Amino acid sequence: MEHLGPEPPRAEKRCRILIRGCQLPIIRYELSIPDYRYSMLWGMSRWIIHVDMDEFFAAVERLDNPALRGKPLLVGGDPKARGVVSTASYEARAFGCHSAMPMATAVRRCPHAVVLQVRGQRYHQVSEQVLDILEQFSPMIEPLSIDEAFLDVSGCERLLGPAPEIGKQIKQRIRGRLGLTASVGVAPNKFLAKLASDLRKPDGLVVITKDHIRDVLDPLGIERLWGVGPAAAKGLRRLDIHTIGQLRLAPVELLRERFGQVGDHYHCLANGIDCRPVVPDSRTKSIGREQTFAADIEDMDELIRVLLNQTEQVARRLRRGGLKARSVTLKLRYVDFTTITRSATLTEPTNITEVLWRGVRRLLDKWAARHRRPLRLLGMTASQLTGREGLQETLFPDPQRTGQERIDEAMDRIAERFGDRSICRGGTNGADRK
Ligand SMILES: [Mg+2]
Repeated sequence: MEHLGPEPPRAEKRCRILIRGCQLPIIRYELSIPDYRYSMLWGMSRWIIHVDMDEFFAAVERLDNPALRGKPLLVGGDPKARGVVSTASYEARAFGCHSAMPMATAVRRCPHAVVLQVRGQRYHQVSEQVLDILEQFSPMIEPLSIDEAFLDVSGCERLLGPAPEIGKQIKQRIRGRLGLTASVGVAPNKFLAKLASDLRKPDGLVVITKDHIRDVLDPLGIERLWGVGPAAAKGLRRLDIHTIGQLRLAPVELLRERFGQVGDHYHCLANGIDCRPVVPDSRTKSIGREQTFAADIEDMDELIRVLLNQTEQVARRLRRGGLKARSVTLKLRYVDFTTITRSATLTEPTNITEVLWRGVRRLLDKWAARHRRPLRLLGMTASQLTGREGLQETLFPDPQRTGQERIDEAMDRIAERFGDRSICRGGTNGADRK
């Protein structure tokens, strides 16, 4: 039927609908990203992907030292100092070792395991690289921990193909670029996506579609419900509820009486309903890159080349995340490990490579004029970040800036297709770029 006359009133920002006695807030929202500029309802036609890196710490250790391949690995604290296992490789798990177990116990179970200390900085570095890859698929990313993240890819189908296909591409790209495997779950909501990624570890890809939610959920034990800990599981078992299927059929009044509001939540999850949105990481305060050199560098051209490359990567990450930075910081470490930083505030928030580069380049030149010495580390950070929503569009765009934005756009497209290292700017000897 054709609609004539004035537009019908917009839906309430928040309304409540009733699904099987369970009240769910439905939030209408609008994404502020141009490609996804449409509104939708939470809980309907959403596609969420959960990416979980397999035995992450152990996998990174093996990546950095191939001699560890095939050996049982225990990454964690010192067994003599009551340390705990952070990650046990699959080879060690076969001996009954698992994370959060005292290292001393794990070593007793698997005496021939290689015990390795946690190298947090290195894992963070790889974690960042994984996030960089995920950002190529959707700006809606919620990191859950160092080795897990949710992506909302609703509406990306036209650009990237169906959600299961996106899941496959994510796995391929992580393996191709980093040499690591991830288990991926693709489903209509967060709970189901997280559950799916856990069903076929390692290197799994599990898709749960709306049509077979019950087939997947019903036979599973209640402890598989996200948020049901040992105490809650015990409480449910006391009600003779052992599987998610039994929980789904349990009267919601009974659950509410026993668990209060959480009872409603359990009822929803057992029905495969979860309206929680993917919340992009708002804690990101800065984006930076740094590099420790194999041999100390004093040559200015070489330092400029490294710094420009870092600036390009940082600018690209800002653009992918729809962010702009107000300040730039240069980080320098001398041979004796003394570390100094120099910061500058930009005239306006930006994610244009050229503008950020001019900022850090000036800092480097100022430092070099007075304190030039060999460096063992060089890095740059963009901070005081603002999202797009906080920025006003300029009424009369500056033609020079528009040109720079076009260059960035073109370079981003190439980097996205062929990888970050596929492209960098010429003329890095500095004279023409001051
Ligand atoms: Mg993991």
